[in-house]
Amino acid sequence: MLTRLAGGHVVDPAHGRDGVGDVWISDGRIVAAPQAGKADETHDVAGKMVLAGAIDIHSHIAGHNETMGRLLLPELRQVEHPGHGTPRGAWTTRETGRLYAAMGFTTVIEPAVAPHHALQAHLELADIPIIDKGALTVLGNDDFTLGLLRGKDGAQAMQDYIAWTLATSRGLGVKVVNAGGAEAFKENVRTFSLDDEVPDYGVSSRAIVKALQHGVVALGLPHPLHVHCNNLGVAGNIDTAVATIAAAEGLPLHLAHIQFYAYGKEGPRGFSSAAPRLAEAVNAAKSVTVDVGQVMFGQTVTISSDVLRQFNARNSAKPKKWLIDDGDANGGGIVAYDYSASNFFNAVQWAAGLELFLLITDPWRVFFTTDHPNGAPFTAYPDIFALLMDRNLRAEWLSRLPTEAVAVTTLPSIAREYSWSEIATMTRAAPARLLGLKDRGHLGAGAVADIAVYAPNRDKATMFRNAALVFKDGALVVRDGAIVSEPYGRTLTVTPARDKAIERRMRDYYQERYGLTPDFMTVAERVLGSRYAFEAVPCRN
Ligand SMILES: [Zn+2]
Repeated sequence: MLTRLAGGHVVDPAHGRDGVGDVWISDGRIVAAPQAGKADETHDVAGKMVLAGAIDIHSHIAGHNETMGRLLLPELRQVEHPGHGTPRGAWTTRETGRLYAAMGFTTVIEPAVAPHHALQAHLELADIPIIDKGALTVLGNDDFTLGLLRGKDGAQAMQDYIAWTLATSRGLGVKVVNAGGAEAFKENVRTFSLDDEVPDYGVSSRAIVKALQHGVVALGLPHPLHVHCNNLGVAGNIDTAVATIAAAEGLPLHLAHIQFYAYGKEGPRGFSSAAPRLAEAVNAAKSVTVDVGQVMFGQTVTISSDVLRQFNARNSAKPKKWLIDDGDANGGGIVAYDYSASNFFNAVQWAAGLELFLLITDPWRVFFTTDHPNGAPFTAYPDIFALLMDRNLRAEWLSRLPTEAVAVTTLPSIAREYSWSEIATMTRAAPARLLGLKDRGHLGAGAVADIAVYAPNRDKATMFRNAALVFKDGALVVRDGAIVSEPYGRTLTVTPARDKAIERRMRDYYQERYGLTPDFMTVAERVLGSRYAFEAVPCRN
């Protein structure tokens, strides 16, 4: 069947398209306009914006920590997003897929899967409808990585281990969370920086990051090492972020949710936005990419594999509920949190995130995230798009914040407004390139027909919250913000080559350490969704 989206304003930065034209779909793929013959089905999208489906590179939507978050805060499910009848918090898998699709998102990456918990994470991902999924595998606080470094086993052994772990956990890339810090926390270490050493192992955080970064590069993985830096949330941690950027040394490195590292110690409260300095460092380091981790106001829950940081943050829990669980490598920490516009610190965080978006000049290197649900649940995205595209709206929000907070940021002085092309680059073309997914993020022939159509509206948040049309693999899944069908997407993985000898070594290691074979943690092909499809009863989110 040949489908035509006729006469929309097509924004496709990967192909330099930004103007009125058609997009054609056949058999789930985008095709070139046919020379002859006409469409079996035509959607008149004149006056509407036509973009590829959006891609979220960092959103905690499945796995062990999310499950613990749901158990700790079941009531969050009931808290509705202001102005919109959707829950803010620990959604079900079904709601996750439906709410993302309604906004025009068609691919989402779960960024923190512990290898030993990968099976549960993938079963949960497979249960999320509509969107395609992927997972980043967490390494760097595990005994085997640290043991390789302590034993000076060399670069080849590290590469083989990374490749083996990606294959068993079905990851799309590698993440490190507070490298060495989670392991050091088990020895009662409470602060841990880039050049601190992990007790017993005698390896520094920097050495872990560098070894994993080199391993990822040598294996030819498309996605750079994804780094959650040390000292998250601490006043003055701008120095850590700048030092980590410098440690990239010209090789690809991705820094996650950098808003949480954009803090100086200026001003009367000893806490200020250092976003301009961080943006300057990012602008200068061409091999470095970042996502923001924007904060928005309201109740949420922070969930992280950075147990050291989560333990230190436990007294800020609101409501007073927190949980730390130990385990192999990172473990996990869950802390309830309520960001308030009247809170000095939260207001600075909100402004710092927007400063980063607006002061980092290259939309190919800065990515759109709230670190869901840590800075805000992903249902807050439409409001953030609106803030980026409209300086008057930012001024309105700023006018409601504490003046002493606004005084330690530069946000009021920034006039930049994101264009549609910049939004499409940051949320479509650039993430596809960052993840090595050539079949999406653009509207060229051969791409999967994941397409989002928006009806311009003075209220941009409403426009982004309720896409006019969304196609997934060429099938209509959303009309006017309502789900009209609920197919299941794919799980995206990468399987780099590795030396067979690593299989034996890992079997011996698991046998000796746990009395188990590594089969317990190996995710079988059949676990990865495409699961099944069913016709949904159309209803509003
Ligand atoms: Zn995260």
